[in-house]
Amino acid sequence: MEQTYIMLKPDALERGLMGQVLSRIENKGYKIVKAELKQLGEDLIKEHYAHIADKPFFPELAAFMTRGPVLALVVEGDNVVEGMRTLMGPTNIKEAQPGTIRGDFATNMTENVIHGSDSTETAQIEIKRFFG
Ligand code: UDP
Ligand code: MG
Repeated sequence: MEQTYIMLKPDALERGLMGQVLSRIENKGYKIVKAELKQLGEDLIKEHYAHIADKPFFPELAAFMTRGPVLALVVEGDNVVEGMRTLMGPTNIKEAQPGTIRGDFATNMTENVIHGSDSTETAQIEIKRFFG
């Protein structure tokens, strides 16, 4: 069965959104097969966000992602990588429709509640990165 790496970002935990976001994942029929609260460090964030580490917003993103714990998840289901990206909504929150997690909960391009792997290849790498 296909798996993806999902992470509820520090804003989701600070704002008490964990239950609502997990419900959406479960309501869709996906199965949470691993879950762990983790305090991430700068090095892991640099590795995870290597594709944008040279962007001007990166320092703000790194500070955000390390300011409190995240909930790291492995989520399983049919076509779950693409399905979770649809549930999440797009990166640009101006384009995130109501009904999506980012569309309903995020008002900021950086603090956008949730991460989800962008391909099945990335999912395998990210699951290894965060769960070993
Ligand atoms: N991000 C940001 N400003 C931008 C683009 C991205 O702060 O202009 C942050 C945001 O938290 C996003 C993360 O960097 O979720 C990773 O960016 P990516 O392009 O991989 O978007 P995602 O896959 O999370 O939708
Ligand atoms: Mg991404």
